[in-house]
Amino acid sequence: MRTIIEPFKIKSVEPIRLTTREQREEYLREAAYNVFLLRAEDVLIDLLTDSGTAAMSAEQWASMMRGDEAYAGSRSWFRFRDAVREIFGFTHILPTHQGRAAERILFSVLCRPGHVVPNNTHFDTTRANIEYLGAEAVDLPIAEGRIPAARHPFKGNLDVERLRELIARVGRERIPLCMITITNNSGGGQPVSLENVRAVSELCRSHGIPLYIDACRFAENAYFIKLREPGQSDRSPLAIAQELFSYADGCTMSAKKDGMANIGGFLATNDARLAQQEQNLLILTEGFPTYGGLAGRDLDAIATGLHEALDEDYLLYRITSTTYLGDHLSRAGVPIIEPPGGHAIYIDAAAFFPQIPPLELPGEALVVELYREAGIRAVEIGTVMFGRRDATTGVETPAAMELVRLAIPRRVYTQSHIDYVVEATLNVWERRAAVTGFRFDEQAPVLRHFTAKFQPV
Ligand SMILES: *Cc1c(COP(=O)(O)O)cnc(C)c1O
Repeated sequence: MRTIIEPFKIKSVEPIRLTTREQREEYLREAAYNVFLLRAEDVLIDLLTDSGTAAMSAEQWASMMRGDEAYAGSRSWFRFRDAVREIFGFTHILPTHQGRAAERILFSVLCRPGHVVPNNTHFDTTRANIEYLGAEAVDLPIAEGRIPAARHPFKGNLDVERLRELIARVGRERIPLCMITITNNSGGGQPVSLENVRAVSELCRSHGIPLYIDACRFAENAYFIKLREPGQSDRSPLAIAQELFSYADGCTMSAKKDGMANIGGFLATNDARLAQQEQNLLILTEGFPTYGGLAGRDLDAIATGLHEALDEDYLLYRITSTTYLGDHLSRAGVPIIEPPGGHAIYIDAAAFFPQIPPLELPGEALVVELYREAGIRAVEIGTVMFGRRDATTGVETPAAMELVRLAIPRRVYTQSHIDYVVEATLNVWERRAAVTGFRFDEQAPVLRHFTAKFQPV
């Protein structure tokens, strides 16, 4: 066995600073225990998200210099359009400033009150955009997808039988589209198999329901298919991605993930009539159709980044380094979602802190402890993010799982950074019995995790 190394060397560095425990206590109090409200400079290792946090390559920086800032029909647009067409294959492409803008435009055109939108698991902005329009977002992961310790090669799969039942129960006319998220971010960064996308596509097509892929981590998903799906090991991630998208009618994409860019996204569809309506909304809030919400240089960075994300040396390193973190934690007994996902490790905070009930926010408690211990910033994906508060009674319903995500920015941290994260997490694990929970002090009606304020119980 040879060590799998970072397939790059470092040309430009950005210092990070270790704070003292006393400083971190003060910063936590000032942020009302919400790590979204910390200053990034007070964070040592920032695993809040892998979104827009990638290190760009020398080629991407060169692409940015080639950026053409013409308002209409810039060369950057054509390079972007061609890269997206080659990989994703859809006919109509609308650039947006990030993924949620693509979601908002797509759902605004398709969804009405009373509609139901199935997905393996909706991401938070996807769910929020659907609910904002009065439609219902339904999660249909396979049974293994709801059990953190269960191992399955494609734990992100959508449960085809449950989709069939849903269509029979609510009727095709109430389902304007079906979505499938690759990899399943909220379900643990778990991949979806080609076979599953094919089966979901056949079912949707037999009912005339358009299928859209939430494509944020398409390259990582394609690589998992290459590694795990029978008969796929000799194919390139590009060929696998092209096949995946051939089963869909369109996609939403955040280029802040597998676009390897710091901003950007797009909406794509094969439906000309829909594309026309979407374009009208795009012009209203994002911009002219050949730049959307982006500068020419952003379009060029994405065009280059989409291909870099499919590079096999990169993908091997990417998946291996995430697995390295997961394996070191789980070997020491830390309960994580098994097997490790592509872009992040998800700790099961309910199992980590059995003494903290869901409504005392065990995930929030773990996020605070990781920062307090070592200046590491993680994110809660549990009751804070997905719990429900009844607006009239104030009664809280906890989320299905209490997770803490350690998301790994692309090409940013080295193995010693990850070793540090392992040590810090194991230190918290040692003293877990003494940790207590939190309660909400303030919260917004939607996407409350971004701005909520907390108090220790
Ligand atoms: C990040 C993400 C989005 C939203 O994209 P933004 O660029 O953050 O607006 C949608 N779906 C999934 C699965 C994501 O990970």
